[in-house]
Amino acid sequence: MKFDVPTAEATRLVDEARPLLDGPVADATAQHERDSGREPGLDPDGSLAEHVRGIKRRVHRLGAEAGLYAPFVSEAMGGRGSSLRACMYLHEEVFLRGFGGQQWMLGWTDGPSPMVEEATERAAREFVGPLMRAEITTAFAQTEPEAGSDATSMSTVARRSGGDWVLTGHKHLITNAPFAEVAQVVARTEDGEYGVFLVPEDARGFSRGPIQQTIMDDGQTASLTFEDCHIPVDMVLGEPRKKFTVPMRWVNWTKARRAGMCVGLSRYCLDRALQYAQEREAFGRPIGSFEQVALGISEAYRKTWATRAACDRLLEEIDAAGPWENPDAETRANFAAIKLTAEECLLEAADVAVQVFGGLGLLKSTGLEHIYRVARNLRIPGGTAEIQRREIARSLGLLGKG
Ligand SMILES: Cc1cc2nc3c(=O)[nH]c(=O)nc-3n(C[C@H](O)[C@H](O)[C@H](O)COP(=O)(O)OP(=O)(O)OC[C@H]3O[C@@H](n4cnc5c(N)ncnc54)[C@H](O)[C@@H]3O)c2cc1C
Repeated sequence: MKFDVPTAEATRLVDEARPLLDGPVADATAQHERDSGREPGLDPDGSLAEHVRGIKRRVHRLGAEAGLYAPFVSEAMGGRGSSLRACMYLHEEVFLRGFGGQQWMLGWTDGPSPMVEEATERAAREFVGPLMRAEITTAFAQTEPEAGSDATSMSTVARRSGGDWVLTGHKHLITNAPFAEVAQVVARTEDGEYGVFLVPEDARGFSRGPIQQTIMDDGQTASLTFEDCHIPVDMVLGEPRKKFTVPMRWVNWTKARRAGMCVGLSRYCLDRALQYAQEREAFGRPIGSFEQVALGISEAYRKTWATRAACDRLLEEIDAAGPWENPDAETRANFAAIKLTAEECLLEAADVAVQVFGGLGLLKSTGLEHIYRVARNLRIPGGTAEIQRREIARSLGLLGKG
């Protein structure tokens, strides 16, 4: 099975990423490991420790300076207008190295998304510019305690008052909520339209809740509350609309990102499992010579290769159809298929790797159980596996609404 990079555009991104990953990014994370390796990564309240946030910011900036932080963003907004298909291979290259901190060179949940294309002139200047340069981070605040999968039933409201929008509501399970300098808040207007409102951390009426500790020990998930929180009327990403199209840009981008991330991490897990299976001996033989071990690894490689091929094709179709402005049912189903397929692939690869390593696979120091926990997590945020299956069934004319 070959893992070639198929297009000139993707090859360029990968070729630019490699020297950055193996040079300045590797140097910065190694230096951080030497300086702070023995310090806990989480504070006593469960939040990400300052030294981890520091190296994260540093690596974000290295990615941004190299133009690889968010290359899918248009040139007009400070990106390169790269296709989603090409970005998949950039992401794969980065995640092939596991979770060593190098992944922070990519703008992820706390970075730019395709929603930035909707920014007003002021939002582009005050929010998108600093975000693209990785001077600030953001959070996408959509989920509420009573509105998760059923996001359009949200109760956070935005009402007009003079030259301001005034937000009232509560969000939970929000990634980077404790640290975001500006939150992208999804709210419903009094006219029943949905908008994305930019709330800076110093806005009056804005507050953050305590850390919500997750399966991943990520230290960056929390709630946000808005109590008569005023923001200028032009600090928005797009005018509020009846359709949920602007937030769906973020949601669908999250699904697309799963492709390169999951394939890269699967390959990382399986390459490690393969090497260990050839070295570790039991009953006087390498464990890879036992059929059950060999077939577990080879099956997971087969599925990784097939997932990569499928995601490549689906992203090519999505790029051709135009992913963001009112994607049709087929495009939405393609995003859903990527999310489901990539997550299932990673969950199996991580499980196989943990199993091949035996007791060592369950040690935190081996670094595989963390990937397993992340893989399990992925099947819920960004739209649960059930919601993705529903999207695909609907594109086939099944299920109807609701
Ligand atoms: C670590 C983490 C990070 C997150 N980050 C963010 C973030 O940055 N921003 C943000 O806005 N949100 C975020 N979330 C929230 C996440 O998007 C929601 O948890 C998710 O969309 C599911 O919503 P819910 O938890 O309310 O579950 P529910 O919607 O209550 O669903 C519960 C169960 O019912 C199933 N279900 C619901 N409706 C249907 C249906 N029609 N058909 C079949 N099954 C159905 C679901 O699939 C699920 O299994 C995060 C969550 C976690 C755990």
